[in-house]
Amino acid sequence: MSYGIAVLPGDGIGPEVVAEALRVLRRVEELSGEEVAFDLESFDVGAEAWRRTGEAISDGAYGACAAADAILLGAAGLPDARHPDGREAGADVIFRLRFGLDLYAGIRPVRLYPGVPTPLRDTAGGIDYVIVRENVEGVYAGRHGGSRVEGEVAADTSIVTRAGTLRIAEAAFALAESRARAGHGRAPLVTCVDKSNVLASYAFFREVVTEVAARHPDVAFEAVYVDAAALYLVQRPATFDVVVTENMFGDILSDLGAGTVGGLGLAGSGDVGDAHGLFQAAHGSAPDIAGQGIANPLATVLSTAMMLDWLGRRHDDQAAHRASAWIDAAVATALGDGSALTGDLGGSAGTSSAGDAVLRALDTVAAAA
Ligand code: ATP
Repeated sequence: MSYGIAVLPGDGIGPEVVAEALRVLRRVEELSGEEVAFDLESFDVGAEAWRRTGEAISDGAYGACAAADAILLGAAGLPDARHPDGREAGADVIFRLRFGLDLYAGIRPVRLYPGVPTPLRDTAGGIDYVIVRENVEGVYAGRHGGSRVEGEVAADTSIVTRAGTLRIAEAAFALAESRARAGHGRAPLVTCVDKSNVLASYAFFREVVTEVAARHPDVAFEAVYVDAAALYLVQRPATFDVVVTENMFGDILSDLGAGTVGGLGLAGSGDVGDAHGLFQAAHGSAPDIAGQGIANPLATVLSTAMMLDWLGRRHDDQAAHRASAWIDAAVATALGDGSALTGDLGGSAGTSSAGDAVLRALDTVAAAA
């Protein structure tokens, strides 16, 4: 099957890491005998585009994203490209796509690959869980609705709706069920993370998620306050399977999770809704290392694998599923033998040599399949 992919390289290291992900996509296309194929079209978005044109994402680019089968994003934003009120201009890209295409579920896997250094002392049980972040409500829904009395008071409103919580909770339970079916060896468990002991909106979030839990008796359920969750994700990460949480908590905890499994350079993510999916590394444009050829491209490569898995599910396409599994296995191989370890992981590979290592491993993985 052939898929139309809107490619948004963006700013900073975005174009560098996307280039490697596209090499990987082209290679799986070849290795699959074009059973899975891609029609790639790139669009100029982000902070630099905003500086040049006054728009971080044009209507044309947005329309192409809406029409594509999936969207692959590098990173959008630069710290010094800001609107007069201080908001980052590049963030308009992700906010317009997230809200406009209703990409309500932020899927952020946290997985420790063999060979990757972790700051945790005891990882005996392994680390392999997924944070499901509500993406369009919560505290960040107030992005345009906050109020400010100049120099005196600022307030934002957190929005939690029943419909929004029902669908993110259903997404989390469906994910726990599908992970169990895929046989990753862990009893399915959904953990609701909130602050229901302090704020009414979080108490409501927990209430609705608990209601959804009752519809899924095959999946164990627990609810944990966010402060305790931050502790447990460090102390006993092996006990988590799927974590469902509000927008801002998901944003913060997914960086914490990434920190336990090698950092942002390995943190892939997907922003998905019922009709559209956008895939990007969880990291930003990292302007401090842009243009030096040292950025870790694997988070974007892993996001590409997530994109193929999502396309496979949407279109019931086994070739796409297979391609996704190849990429995942190739990344694991190239990390395990050290050939894809970039500077952030304590290795010496550059961006393109890490990409080369994944391509070599892909050939081996596909040949063995
Ligand atoms: P944003 O707010 O846009 O998510 P950020 O402020 O979190 O961005 P990043 O751009 O993600 O910042 O960078 C944070 C730190 O992590 C920087 O020091 C950066 O160099 C490093 N970093 C981020 N991504 C990578 C990567 N792919 N490879 C190596 N280092 C990275």
